[in-house]
Amino acid sequence: MLHDDRIWSVSKIESAEELARMLTEMTWCCCKAFSVRGDPQYVWVNDSTSTDRLQEYGVLKRNCSDGKIMQIESITFSCCNCDQALRFIQMTLAGNDDNNSFVCEISLMLQTPLEHGKCQHCA
Ligand SMILES: [Zn+2]
Repeated sequence: MLHDDRIWSVSKIESAEELARMLTEMTWCCCKAFSVRGDPQYVWVNDSTSTDRLQEYGVLKRNCSDGKIMQIESITFSCCNCDQALRFIQMTLAGNDDNNSFVCEISLMLQTPLEHGKCQHCA
């Protein structure tokens, strides 16, 4: 399950392709989250234990009108190559993960990079 003591900073990425590259080629600090421009309801949040461990991401869908957040998927991007990661991201963006059997509502804090500033994880 997602770390509940973190507040994530959500960066907007220009495309699914760019996000796939970023998630497979780089290690991000534990408070980083991403969404793809044009699809703000889907958010990938870093759920890794630390920056030197496997990079696991929770995939969230937020309801932009009532603020409810569901976790719909969980992906270890450090085990994927860029093409695999892109396929996962495109599946999510196409709504294919919306009805996964383990979808559950969660509560967590998402901020814009400006609101987030610097926390203990990204210092
Ligand atoms: Zn931070």
